[in-house]
Amino acid sequence: MNIILFGPPGAGKGTQAQFIVKKYNYFQLSTGNLLRKEINQKTQIGQEIENLISKGDFVPDAIVDKLLRQSIINLKFRDRIIFDGYPRNIFQAKNLGKILEKFDQNISLIIFLNVTREVIEKRIMGRMTCQKCHMSLNEFFNKDEIELHPCGKEHLVKRKDDNRETIISRYDTYMKTTKPVLDFYSKNKNFYEVDGNLKIEEITIKINDILRV
Ligand code: AMP
Repeated sequence: MNIILFGPPGAGKGTQAQFIVKKYNYFQLSTGNLLRKEINQKTQIGQEIENLISKGDFVPDAIVDKLLRQSIINLKFRDRIIFDGYPRNIFQAKNLGKILEKFDQNISLIIFLNVTREVIEKRIMGRMTCQKCHMSLNEFFNKDEIELHPCGKEHLVKRKDDNRETIISRYDTYMKTTKPVLDFYSKNKNFYEVDGNLKIEEITIKINDILRV
């Protein structure tokens, strides 16, 4: 069963994906993480990617597609993928359908985390991610957890693109380019909408209920 976690930047897709990974032994395919890996490893396309991400722009479809395919064809992840951050436009939505079909797979669930812009701003401005275990914490809401984080708090870092200016640009891009993807999927019988403004644990319970159906 492959799952798409869909929603605006800061909706909590990464956090909820981690829950599914741990509880159901899934693989989180975050295109954002794959792109950041290219930047950190200073690959040939890493610099180009960094410039685009820092402005809140999309990375070209062809680059993302290549990274995506490498994960989809990995047999270890077959039918256990959570797509986080892909698809982000109609081309990508159609492309994903084609790639999965080619490898005799499909999408079983589409979960849309619906969040207001005010909540998104608060979440993104405080977001810290562990470089070792990928756990996401918020410096405003999780002060104790940050102090006690098992990997050590020195591994918790802020993303460069998590600043107010880039957040606004990323949100605007989402509204313009990614929201049409919602119309593309919302008629699907496997489409579920969850109130992403709720507390993290409450969202997790709702997602868990959907996964058990
Ligand atoms: P995320 O970690 O999903 O918030 O993604 C961070 C940034 O990576 C985005 O603002 C985009 O610049 C880029 N990115 C991630 N996924 C995609 C995608 N599917 N298509 C194009 N750009 C992407």
